Amino acid sequence: APRTVLISGCSSGIGLELAVQLAHDPKKRYQVVATMRDLRKKGTLEAAAGEALGQTLTVAQLDVCSDESVAQCLSCIQGEVDVLVNNAGMGLVGPLEGLSLDAMQNVFDTNFFGSVRLVKAVLPGMKRRRQGHIVVISSVMGLQGVVFNDVYAASKFALEGFFESLAIQLLEFNIFISLVEPGPVVTEFEGKLLAQVTTAEFPGADADTLHYFRDIYLPASRELFRSVGQSPQDVVRAIVKVIGSTRPPLRQQTNVRYSPLTMLKTVDSSGSLYVRTTHCLLFRCPRLLSLGLRCLSCGCLPAQVRPR
Ligand code: NAD
Repeated sequence: APRTVLISGCSSGIGLELAVQLAHDPKKRYQVVATMRDLRKKGTLEAAAGEALGQTLTVAQLDVCSDESVAQCLSCIQGEVDVLVNNAGMGLVGPLEGLSLDAMQNVFDTNFFGSVRLVKAVLPGMKRRRQGHIVVISSVMGLQGVVFNDVYAASKFALEGFFESLAIQLLEFNIFISLVEPGPVVTEFEGKLLAQVTTAEFPGADADTLHYFRDIYLPASRELFRSVGQSPQDVVRAIVKVIGSTRPPLRQQTNVRYSPLTMLKTVDSSGSLYVRTTHCLLFRCPRLLSLGLRCLSCGCLPAQVRPR
């Protein structure tokens, strides 16, 4: 029988693409429940699903921040959830001093507690049946911090710690956890963030910090998306492989062109190499950012970014 896959956040981006690719699986291994907070946005997904709609793909309402919505959604699913994909998420960038605690808590409510809420709901069934797979769309920012993304990175670190801990217990129940860690992906995600920051004033942030954010970080971030950004299709191919695996990995990065940066932390566990190199790339020689990545991936650290 096909495995039932529940995915959160399918109105756009990675979630939409994943729902469509799984629903079109040539071997028809999946029955996809593609969920979204606001069903008025289902048009794009339905169009992309084509003839899979109503066959291997159904659309349902689900707000990961609401207990009632989660309960309602699960009560409508025939059978049990075999694969849960925690994809819904949101970003937050900007100088910390100019961000409200409310905005920060909203990021944790969505990215972290949203996933926890869904896991709590599907886990009893998975444990009873002694099978299941929980896939979490984390980020390379779940592995290392990125300047001006403090709270977003923290929410992804939280997911990494939570699910790594849970993975140990769940092995005893034959339930697998996979944290997928994309680098920059060209979706609405970045556009939504940029729209937020162009209008935001960040009251409380000093002039130097605002200058670093607007004139140094934002152009560098755009350059990074331009030079190493992946398409959602590419990322989803990696996720589909993880879901189809008989022994799914706990962690899966999706972008080899970003790995020079993640490697900086792996090769120096003190963390200094990563912090100093990315600081240098950003504040001393930003034009090296894309070039530097290429250079780092062939193993040669450019002299300008070599830690002093
Ligand atoms: P996206 O903005 O297109 O998709 C995020 C989806 O989550 C949207 O459809 C949004 O409506 C939904 N969502 C937000 N709050 C929700 C809620 N309370 N309930 C239900 N759905 C909600 O962006 P994306 O790039 O496709 O992001 C998908 C995931 O990938 C996120 O978890 C994000 O953190 C992660 N990610 C994105 C990137 C990137 O560069 N785009 C990189 C690494 C990881």
